[in-house]
Formats: sequence, C-alpha cells, structure tokens
Amino acid sequence: MAPSSLQPGTLYLVATPIGNLEDITLRALRVLRACDVVAAEDTRRPGQLLTHFNLRKPLLSYFRFNEARRSEDLIARLQRGETVALVTDAGSPGISDPGERIVRAALAAGCRVEPVPGPCALVAALTASGLPTDEFHFVGFLPHKSGQRRTELERLRGLPGTLVLYESPHRIPRLLGELAELLPEREVVLARELTKKFEEFLRGRPAELVAATQNRALKGEFVVLVRSC
Ligand code: SAM
Repeated sequence: MAPSSLQPGTLYLVATPIGNLEDITLRALRVLRACDVVAAEDTRRPGQLLTHFNLRKPLLSYFRFNEARRSEDLIARLQRGETVALVTDAGSPGISDPGERIVRAALAAGCRVEPVPGPCALVAALTASGLPTDEFHFVGFLPHKSGQRRTELERLRGLPGTLVLYESPHRIPRLLGELAELLPEREVVLARELTKKFEEFLRGRPAELVAATQNRALKGEFVVLVRSC
C-alpha cells in the first residue's frame, strides 16, 4: 500500500488535539485529507479543526443518541468500500467518548478498523503526574448521584495502581471533598488544561487541595489522579 493511500472499507479512529493544535499528527492529517467522510460526535469542533488545517470533507454527526442508527449507516458505507475517519471533540475516540459501538459493529461486519493514535488526556496527565505509571486504572467519569459515587469510590480505593478520573470543573470541589473523606492519605494530582496556555498541575493530599482551590474559580478541563494504596 502506498503511504499516501487509505485502505478501502476501513474505519480510521483518528485522535485529535485536546487543546494545542500542534499536537495533530501527520498521519491524522493525511487520513482526514484522504478519507471519504469524517464522522464526528458533534460536527462543530471537528469542523473548526478541518477548517484550521484547510481540509474540506463531508462531516456526519454521530451523537451518542443516534449512535445505533449512525452505526448502520457507517457500516453500509464501509461495506461499499468507503473510508470513514471517526473523530471526537478532542482526544482519542472511544475514551469517555463515542466509538466503542461503531468499532464493535464494524468488526462484526468484517470491516477493517485502524487506530490513528495521538492525543489523549488520560495519557498526557498520567505521564506528567509523577505518580506510578506501571499500573493504573482508568475510571473515566464517576456517576453523578451521591450514593453511586460513594459506592464507586469505595470500590476503587481497594484497587492497585494509580486511579485516573475525568471530571467536569464544577464537580472538582465535590470530588476533592469525597476524596478527603474516603481516601484522605492519598496523593492526588489535578491536571488542568493540558496542552493549553494555562496548563497546571496541582499536587497534594485531598484536604490540601481543598484548601488550595477553595478561593479560586476552577475553570477548564481536569484529569484527577490518585496514588494507589
Ligand atoms: N476522548 C478524550 C481523550 O482522549 O482524552 C476524552 C473526552 S471526555 C468527553 C472529556 C474529558 O477529558 C474532560 O472532561 C476532561 O476530564 C478530560 N480532558 C479533555 N481534554 C483535557 C485537557 N486539555 N486537560 C485536562 N483534561 C482534559
């Protein structure tokens, strides 16, 4: 296969920047340039990305709520020999983002699936956290309901390895409070705005981070990491 051509009937899982547009890979650009269609969770942010890199492509929206219907449509395209690039708003498809269902459906239909690896908040945060990277447990987002969060944190605190969580900024104070109660001795790292202008790592025990953050508005995107027991 010539390096510039894509293989017909392949679903490409294309990772895109989580902030810094310089993190796009050469291969991601090549695949986005050469594919027949780009499937995106929400077409707005990928649309901006394509425009930034001067790429004109048909974009299909791939919302969580129409993932089942869209999967059928995308599989039909793959079976006709089209190439589909799946992207999300940011980072790697399938990591706390849609992707899993279409990958399973594509494999079940006998289609090729090819990863085009690149940015991922979990990897960026973990590797710079200073916490052990040899064993870790990716949690993604905790449930929203208090009881379920507590049960889940109680389960997680028994696991070996660094815990890696995604959390929205407005729930960071709540999560720090829960960690202060349930895992008070653990070292925690807040990785904020990775790859962006105001990237920041805050480290300490949960209660120290509560104190350090209580008088400031917590803005931006966060990965929360917790040292193992
Ligand atoms: N698929 C993405 C990936 O590969 O990381 C994750 C998508 S998930 C819907 C979005 C969450 O990822 C955010 O709420 C935040 O926890 C984390 N995240 C994404 N970009 C980030 C960034 N630049 N800095 C810190 N966390 C980020």
